[in-house]
Amino acid sequence: MAETVTNWAGNITYAAKELRRPDSVNALLNLVAGSRRVRVLGSGHSFNEIAEPGADGVLISLDALPPEIDVDTAARTVRVGGGVRYAELAREVHRHGLALANMASLPHISVAGSVATGTHGSGVGNGPLASSVRAVQMVVADGSRGWFTRGVTNLFDGAVTSLGAHGVVTALTLDLEPAFEVEQHVFTGMPLEGLDQATFETVMSAAYSVSMFTDWRAPGFRQVWLKRRTDQPLPDFPWAAPAAEKMHPVPGMPAVNCTEQFGVPGPWHERLPHFRAEFTPSSGAELQSEYLMPRESAVAVLHALDGIRETVAPVLQTCEVRTVAADDQWLSPSHGRDTVAVHFTWVEDTRAVLPVVRRVEEALAPFGARPHWGKVFTTPAAELHALYPRLHDFRTMAHDLDPAGKFRNAFVRDVLGD
Ligand SMILES: Cc1cc2nc3c(=O)[nH]c(=O)nc-3n(C[C@H](O)[C@H](O)[C@H](O)COP(=O)(O)OP(=O)(O)OC[C@H]3O[C@@H](n4cnc5c(N)ncnc54)[C@H](O)[C@@H]3O)c2cc1C
Repeated sequence: MAETVTNWAGNITYAAKELRRPDSVNALLNLVAGSRRVRVLGSGHSFNEIAEPGADGVLISLDALPPEIDVDTAARTVRVGGGVRYAELAREVHRHGLALANMASLPHISVAGSVATGTHGSGVGNGPLASSVRAVQMVVADGSRGWFTRGVTNLFDGAVTSLGAHGVVTALTLDLEPAFEVEQHVFTGMPLEGLDQATFETVMSAAYSVSMFTDWRAPGFRQVWLKRRTDQPLPDFPWAAPAAEKMHPVPGMPAVNCTEQFGVPGPWHERLPHFRAEFTPSSGAELQSEYLMPRESAVAVLHALDGIRETVAPVLQTCEVRTVAADDQWLSPSHGRDTVAVHFTWVEDTRAVLPVVRRVEEALAPFGARPHWGKVFTTPAAELHALYPRLHDFRTMAHDLDPAGKFRNAFVRDVLGD
């Protein structure tokens, strides 16, 4: 019987008739060679049709391949298989006394799928997760398998944040650094009034990774999360009051799902994500959108959103504001500019949410808002072209590697303007 395959959120049911799970690289190569259209499903945490191969296509999961995690302590790198998730990777890296520079809000997601969509955490000095990638190994359309390595090929900057458009990623090599400890401090009640751009910069620089949360029911932030590396100074934080109890960023959700707070130091991988690997992340019943804009516009962006908060608040569970350092990947939403990222966890109701998404996009358009590739957005392709100066190079690379479009689904064709 055909299985029904959906994404994590359940808002997308893939048209592909089944999920194929090759258990060896040879089986994968044969499957790719024998299929007309192919897409890979990572951990399925995207909220749109980015992974959809179409009814005549093959959807492949790499979770039956041997879960390779190969740490090189001397080189401070790890080679990780294309189906591995951050939770397993982080534990293994930490066991070797090493660390990744940053993580997203949850460790449940696959490495290959995350870097393909430009997934990021927070921190004025932290690039997106793709900026830790040193090399990526891919099976391309002609059935060959090769590496794209930073500094070796000038196609590298099109190869990591790839939207899955070039081929099947079978392994990645990531940079590591010595393991570090982080403590998490949560503050409550920071008004928007009086927050100028200089203060925003100071707040977001107060720790290694900082997130501000609002439900836009009032002009201000209900929570501010500071993730301080214990090898960096303890900041003064006069803008909000220390939380009196452990908190979840979504009002009403249990704090037990979240990583340790109250300044208890712990390993980097148990503090940088907001949500613990053994628990449901976020609210579990939701849609998400996110837009990334130049960091220097942050306060103007927040005021633009405050201006439409009566439209936004009724369908919002929480809104998170983070920063991401500029990177070089051609399709990275933080390409070439230090970034403020504004994320929306919506209620689980596409019909109610979509008109609000459009309203948010109108409000953020003057700031050059680039949508997160893995979340709900309606930004027209023509606007995307203006937002990504290297999109043309990416398109050329995709067509050169894959002339017949085996890996290009409707989502990718739309982005490329094909
Ligand atoms: C609760 C929750 C919290 C989130 N928090 C954050 C956050 O903090 N920051 C953030 O930036 N995003 C966040 N996201 C979004 C999420 O990180 C992205 O959607 C990410 O792509 C998920 O990875 P995945 O493995 O599930 O990818 P999938 O959704 O499975 O796939 C994404 C894309 O990658 C491609 N792909 C996957 N694996 C491969 C492979 N091996 N080879 C080639 N292509 C591949 C797919 O074809 C698809 O195009 C969150 C999502 C959820 C559900």
